Amino acid sequence: MHKAPQLVQKAKAVNSDLVDSFGREHTYLRISLIEKCNLRCTYCMPAEGIQLSPKNDIMTADEVIAIASEFVRMGVTKIRLTGGEPLLRKDAADIIKRLSAMPVELAITTNGVLLDRYFELFQEVGLNHINISLDTLQEDRFKALTRRNDFLKVKENIFQCFDWGIQPRINVVLLKGQNEDEIVDFVRLTKNYPLTVRFIEFMPFDGNQWNSDKLVSLSEVLQKVSVEFGRENLHRIKDAAHDTSKNYKIEGFKGQFSVISTVTNPFCDSCNRIRLTANGKIKNCLFSESESDLLSAFRSGKKIGPEVQKALEAKKFKRGGMETLEEFSNPSRNQHNRSMILIGG
Ligand code: SAM
Ligand code: SF4
Repeated sequence: MHKAPQLVQKAKAVNSDLVDSFGREHTYLRISLIEKCNLRCTYCMPAEGIQLSPKNDIMTADEVIAIASEFVRMGVTKIRLTGGEPLLRKDAADIIKRLSAMPVELAITTNGVLLDRYFELFQEVGLNHINISLDTLQEDRFKALTRRNDFLKVKENIFQCFDWGIQPRINVVLLKGQNEDEIVDFVRLTKNYPLTVRFIEFMPFDGNQWNSDKLVSLSEVLQKVSVEFGRENLHRIKDAAHDTSKNYKIEGFKGQFSVISTVTNPFCDSCNRIRLTANGKIKNCLFSESESDLLSAFRSGKKIGPEVQKALEAKKFKRGGMETLEEFSNPSRNQHNRSMILIGG
């Protein structure tokens, strides 16, 4: 068991209800608004589909707002909406408006298909932290990867972001043999557009056929980029606090790119994230098997603060308790989790 004594000491100095037993302060809440999605990404949604929660088990808009307010009272300063596809939810606009009135940085992760319907709202409420998932710049590949035909719509919506003053971050899950030959094309996009391309390591979740041979490493990414644009033009950018990525820029380019190595080089030491699923369960780590039922506690009139604290006290130090890469790569350990679509990334 990892004790991380230096972090435990730090816990005493932090004045927050959201500190875990390793001294990590959880100021970043990710709320999944919905289990459904309009795409079917192979790495996220199992081919056989998923068992959706009964409708009554999904948080209503009022419940999302009440629970989020309690988190904010406890010390959360950033909320990201995710899903499934958060913009698919019929009352997404209402939820976004109400959350934007809270003293938090509001962000969203979306597949971009419905984005054009929301630009006006985003401008009105000042939501400009937008991550858009796009794993390929090729239409036929998009169809194979997402099992849907929305490539042109997503592409158009990404370019529309600039007209609305938004500098989007593009999430690209790298899959060996499927899209790593597009790394250079994605980085080339940052030449004329002020966007950030984020290459994300493929992570194991229930039913997504993960295996470590499908990973594309940081050094492979940097190698390809250096060959194309010149090693001397590749610059490392300083990480921000709690940054999960290693950030880079090509000399003279408007945008930048980053690599997020959650599997091979996790950022657990400085983790500040806590997750709430659409059916109101707290996941204290993306990879934890266990969950706590916050929504039932809330519905039965219990105070939720102590429930949140209990969930944080139970948080393991690294990857939900899978300390070594060997453990983490073992299907008997890494498949006791929800599918990603039911967590929210
Ligand atoms: N539907 C929205 C979207 O696609 O952006 C939000 C939900 S999606 C689950 C959130 C993020 O998780 C996306 O950027 C997606 O690419 C990423 N993701 C899903 N499955 C993944 C996996 N197995 N490994 C790494 N990232 C994954
Ligand atoms: Fe849907 Fe996002 Fe999962 Fe793709 S990654 S299936 S868009 S939830």
